Amino acid sequence: MNGSPEKKRNTFFFRWIIHLFFFNPFFFFQNATAQDSLVARYCKSILPEETRSLLEVLTSDSLEGRETGKPGQKKAAEFIAGYFSSLGLKPVSHGTFFQYHPLSITANHGFNFEVNQQYFLFMKDYFYLDGYADTMIVLDTMIFVGYGISEEKYDDYSKMNVTGKPVMFFNGEPQNKKYLPGEKTKPTEWSTSWKKKLAVVYEKRPSLVFIICDSLDLVIDSLNYSLHMEEFGRLNHSPNAIPVIFITRDMARNFYPELTEEKPGESKNKIDRRGKPQSFVSKSSAFIRLVSITGQLKGQNVFGLLEGTDKKDEALVISAHYDHLGKADSVFYPGADDDGSGTSVVMELAQVFLQAQKGGHPPRRSILFLMVSGEEKGLLGSEYFVTHPPVPLKQIITDLNMDMIGRTDEKHDSLGIRDYVYIIGSDNTSKELHDISEKNNSLYPRLRLDYTYNKPGDPNRYYYRSDHYNFAKNKIPVIFYFNGTHKDYHRITDTIDKIDFEILCKRAQLIFSTAWELVNRSERVRPDFDREFEKADH
Ligand SMILES: [Zn+2]
Repeated sequence: MNGSPEKKRNTFFFRWIIHLFFFNPFFFFQNATAQDSLVARYCKSILPEETRSLLEVLTSDSLEGRETGKPGQKKAAEFIAGYFSSLGLKPVSHGTFFQYHPLSITANHGFNFEVNQQYFLFMKDYFYLDGYADTMIVLDTMIFVGYGISEEKYDDYSKMNVTGKPVMFFNGEPQNKKYLPGEKTKPTEWSTSWKKKLAVVYEKRPSLVFIICDSLDLVIDSLNYSLHMEEFGRLNHSPNAIPVIFITRDMARNFYPELTEEKPGESKNKIDRRGKPQSFVSKSSAFIRLVSITGQLKGQNVFGLLEGTDKKDEALVISAHYDHLGKADSVFYPGADDDGSGTSVVMELAQVFLQAQKGGHPPRRSILFLMVSGEEKGLLGSEYFVTHPPVPLKQIITDLNMDMIGRTDEKHDSLGIRDYVYIIGSDNTSKELHDISEKNNSLYPRLRLDYTYNKPGDPNRYYYRSDHYNFAKNKIPVIFYFNGTHKDYHRITDTIDKIDFEILCKRAQLIFSTAWELVNRSERVRPDFDREFEKADH
C-alpha cells in the first residue's frame, strides 16, 4: 500500500541519523523535548469545566436544538461568534465571522434569475428578503441612477423618469469632496443610509429596485441582524411593495451587454472623481421569478482565523458542526454529543491556541476554526465552505473534524474501555498525517485509537457522513474523530448529563497536539489519495 514513499523516507532518515551523530548529537533531542513539554503544558489548559460551561450554553432551552435556518441556530451562531471575537480571532468573511449558505436548492434554485442569457444564483449573486408574492418579471430596460441620492446639490434622478421602470444604484455615497452628505457611512453601518434612499425611490414608484453592493455577505448579515431591517421587512409585506433586490457588482455589469465600458462601475468612478451624477438608461433583458419564501433558506457557517507567522498563507482547518435537529412542539433535541461536544472542543482549542500565541508561541501556519451549520440537512454548510472558501483550497493543509466525541459506545463500554477514539480518514488521505496522529497520541493522551470504521467498504460509511468528507473530496487530508454511535443518537435524550468531560478533553488533547505539529512543522503534510477509500467513493 505504501511502498515508494517509505523508501524515500528511509533514505532521509538514514542521512539525518548520520547528521545527528556527527554534528550535533543533542540538538534535536533537546529541541524535541522542549516542544513536547510545551505541547503537554498547553494540553493541560484544555479543561473539562470550560468545555462543560460552553456546552451548557449550546444545549440550553433558548437555543432550541440549533436547527439550521431557525432562531435557535442563529443564537448559537451569535454565541460562537461572540466567543471568537472575545478571544481575538479574526473575522475572515468581509469583516464578519459569518458565512451564509443556502439550505435548499429547490426553493430558489439557479433558474430564477436570468440576465442577458446568463443565470445567477440566490445568495451568491443576488439576495432579497421574502415577503413578495410569487411573481415573474421581465425587463427590457434598465435605468442606472448612480448612488440613488436626491438632494438639493446633488440629484441622481434629475432628468430621469423612473416611474414604472426598473432602477439600479450603488450602495453608499460619492467619494468626492464636492459632495457633502453630512456624514459618511461606514461599510458596516450602511443600512442607515439606504433607508433614506428607499424612501426617495419609493416616492417615484419604479417597478423594481436593484442595489449594487460590494459585499453581498455583509448585506445578508445586516438584513438578518439589523433592527433597521425589520422596518424594511414590513415594507416588503405591504400590498404595493416594490421589490428591492441586492446584487453584486459582477452581476450589475451583466445588465449592460451593449456598453463596452465596465458599466456601471465606470460611471460610479466618474461620480467619485467629478462629484456629478452620471445616470443613464440602457436596453437590457432580464427575467426574474421572485419566490415568496426565502427566509428559512439560510444557514450560517461561523469561522475565525488565528493568523500564523512565517507560513501564514497556509491554513489548518479545525471543524465541527454546531447545528442539530431543532425542536418538535414543546420538546427540543439538545444534541449534546451530536455535535455540541465537537463544537465546545473547537471553541476550547481556539482559546488554548490563543493562549499559546499570547505566551509567545504563535502557530507558524494559520488556523481556521470552523463551525458549520446545515450538517444535519446533508453537509450543506461544509459543502458551501469548500465551494466558497475564504482562503484558496490549495492553501488548506488539513481538516481535523470532530463529530460526537463526548461519549463512549456500547462496544467499548462492554470492554470497560473509556480512553479511546475512532480515527477515520487519516491514512486514507495522508500517510504522514496518520503517522503524526499516532506519534502525538503515544506522547500525550495515549488513547486507544480504533480504526474499525476506517476500513474501505465499511458498511457504516462514516467517512462520507460528516463534514470532513467535503474536504477529502477536494484532496485535502482529513482526520475525523468520533466516539461511535449510541442509543441517544438523534433522540431528545442526547443530553449534557451523559457527556464524559474527562474523556472529551483527552480527545481534545490529541487533536490539539496533532494540530500543533501540523501548523508548526517545516513541511506541510503530503496528501496521499491513491488509496482504496477514494475508489469506494460514489
Ligand atoms: Zn453530527
